[in-house]
Amino acid sequence: MFGRSIKIATIFGISIEIDFSWFVIFFLVAWSLSKGYFPYKYPEIGKQYYWTMGIIASLLLFLSVLLHELSHSYIALRNNLPISKITLFIFGGVANLAEEVKTPGVEFRVAIAGPICSFVLMFLCHFLAGLAEPDSGVFAVLSYVSLINGILAIFNLIPGFPLDGGRLLRSAMWYFTGNYKGSTYLASTIGKGFAFFLMAMGFFQIMSGNTFNGIWLIFIGYFLKGAAESSYQQVVMKEIFTDLTAEKVMKRHVISVTGGISIRNLVDDYFLNYHYDSFPVVAGTRTIGIINMPIIKHIPKEEWDTTTVQAVMTQETEKYLVSPGDSVDDLLSRMVRGNLGWLLVVKDDQSVAGIVTRSDIMHLLKIKSDLNE
Ligand SMILES: [Zn+2]
Repeated sequence: MFGRSIKIATIFGISIEIDFSWFVIFFLVAWSLSKGYFPYKYPEIGKQYYWTMGIIASLLLFLSVLLHELSHSYIALRNNLPISKITLFIFGGVANLAEEVKTPGVEFRVAIAGPICSFVLMFLCHFLAGLAEPDSGVFAVLSYVSLINGILAIFNLIPGFPLDGGRLLRSAMWYFTGNYKGSTYLASTIGKGFAFFLMAMGFFQIMSGNTFNGIWLIFIGYFLKGAAESSYQQVVMKEIFTDLTAEKVMKRHVISVTGGISIRNLVDDYFLNYHYDSFPVVAGTRTIGIINMPIIKHIPKEEWDTTTVQAVMTQETEKYLVSPGDSVDDLLSRMVRGNLGWLLVVKDDQSVAGIVTRSDIMHLLKIKSDLNE
């Protein structure tokens, strides 16, 4: 449901996208407004208008969420934080920050912009409703949009990460303590606590017969819980990534082959033995090539005994080689980009110091985050 979205506009150079889940929500909101809220609150308006009112109110709700996100983005851009896109999805919007915020001051300003925008919209719609004919369709829609903006502002100000309020709390703590990780931990723990509170409220609602509201609350709570957990994980990962270097994670024992052996030997002694999909080919301490499964698959089996590794290996070793001081962050992105299972760590004199495999990194990260190290 998440992840598939369509682009509807570009504003300030930011691509605005709608997640498919949003269409379901749009219909649900329009439906519940025209079948429930409006007829119940304004019975005198007349049956034929409720659907139109419901659809217009849903569109204005959508616009309100978009303006809320755009205010975050606008302030972020003014502080030189690039924003690639805004995705409007099931519970509102998410502005994708391409980079982490660098100072608490910037994070505070970016976070507060959204709720301020929603409060301004609340007062604006309230004012405009006052100009409309009392209890008319226009009045009803504007009053609803005013109310919903108030709810948006207050909900987002709840001090649990990753809600805006959680970001405000984190930036304030970060400012006073200087501890980014600890501040994120506290803010996301409060966020998780709030998520459990919402889910508990949801169960309570279902027990007392309000199944629809109850499911909603559980759904939102569940989503917030996941978001709070993953945002903390991201901070931890990022810290581990930038602090660790290739030298610290590499294995010193490198399984490499010499160019003179036959493909038959290579398959029997290396591929079937170690289960890697490629090996460095070395001459002395120098890496002279790479031999991998795709190359071997192109060689007919009857030629395996007579063909040497050196004759068929690729000499394009560049993308496999890294320096001891490169960060794990760099290594991982190179592995992902090149679809590589391992990288060779080579010293300045071109001699091999060790090897880093993707699964080694993953394993180490898991241990580190389990130990909360
Ligand atoms: Zn916000």
